[in-house]
Amino acid sequence: MAEKRRVLLTGGTGYIGSHSAVSFVEAGYDVALLDNFSNSSPRVLDRLEQILGQRLKVYEVDVCDEPRLREALASFSPQAVVHFAGLKAVGESVKEPQRYYENNVAGTLSLLRAMAAEKVQDLVFSSSATVYGDPASVPITEAFPRSATNPYGRSKLMVEDMLMDLCVSDPGWNIALLRYFNPVGAHNSGLIGEDPTGIPNNLMPFVTQVAVGRRAKLSVFGGDYPTHDGTGVRDYIHVTDLAEGHVSALASLDRTPDGAPLVVNLGTGKGYSVLETLRAFEKASGCSVPFEIAPRRPGDVAECYADPSRARDLIGWEAKLGLDRMCEDAWRWQANNPDGYTS
Ligand code: NAD
Ligand code: UDP
Repeated sequence: MAEKRRVLLTGGTGYIGSHSAVSFVEAGYDVALLDNFSNSSPRVLDRLEQILGQRLKVYEVDVCDEPRLREALASFSPQAVVHFAGLKAVGESVKEPQRYYENNVAGTLSLLRAMAAEKVQDLVFSSSATVYGDPASVPITEAFPRSATNPYGRSKLMVEDMLMDLCVSDPGWNIALLRYFNPVGAHNSGLIGEDPTGIPNNLMPFVTQVAVGRRAKLSVFGGDYPTHDGTGVRDYIHVTDLAEGHVSALASLDRTPDGAPLVVNLGTGKGYSVLETLRAFEKASGCSVPFEIAPRRPGDVAECYADPSRARDLIGWEAKLGLDRMCEDAWRWQANNPDGYTS
């Protein structure tokens, strides 16, 4: 029997990393996780064991710590790395830009040096639709101009640029830049899910926390956008679909055009407003979610949704799960774990 391919997931105990771990194992990979647990709980490992029937190997390492990163790579000897590790809160990045550049940019440089030293040159990177800034139109294709309005977004732009330059300099690298739209939902077991620390910045975890009684009501940021009901429109994508996008991207890394990185949007191509999302959640959960219309949140765009056709054409992936299922799964996770992993 052929040896299983090994893949190391940095940030593998986080929200998207843990769901991707399930998808990679189910696709037949030998998976190890690497994380410094700065935004995740070790309890994820027990939950993953319940889902998978096997305990995943985990390296407690900071990606900025190059020597320990090298040790982990040498010990597991993966053929590929999927790089989720990073900080992701936009508001926090404005207050602490240096921490964001250290973690997200310097951390990626440290990873690239360690990978080069250990001769691992296949990499899938977590980018974001934030690199499109305020798009001139929707749906958004990968050819749209990129810009950033905050240090988090700039850190993603910088890493994208670094990785593009790296591919030009050395065709030995095979790299995918995956631009995620709005990941929501949870594994359908209800055992793993999104567990933000403090007050959630994102819509879906805020809504589920209101529904479970942890918060009084949702503030809908802006009721006067030029959208069909005045509230912001986004492309919500089920985290399980997103996770499967990584498996498809890794399998297609050799299909990079002219050795350049494979750049693909991971979205559904459908936009839903805040109020539509709220109604879908209420239907899925049977809970009513009180809300008020509040001022717009600075930096928010009116509409953002993907043209996902390149992902279909280049990596043979498309999202399968709709908004109702995203809401059902988000609710199952929150209802079973009202306080997240500390429940
Ligand atoms: P998350 O915070 O749940 O997971 C990130 C993981 O990385 C955490 O487990 C954290 O402990 C770990 N980590 C952070 N800094 C580290 C470091 N220096 N060394 C080792 N581990 C470190 O976030 P997520 O939602 O799973 O996001 C994963 C990736 O996807 C991030 O790069 C994020 O920017 C990107 N992304 C997320 C979204 C989203 O809405 N969730 C959207 C677009 C892009
Ligand atoms: N949003 C909201 N209230 C919240 C959080 C988010 O009305 O408490 C809105 C936000 O203005 C945007 C949409 O929900 O229109 C999605 O926001 P999120 O922060 O989840 O994602 P992003 O802004 O990064 O696309």
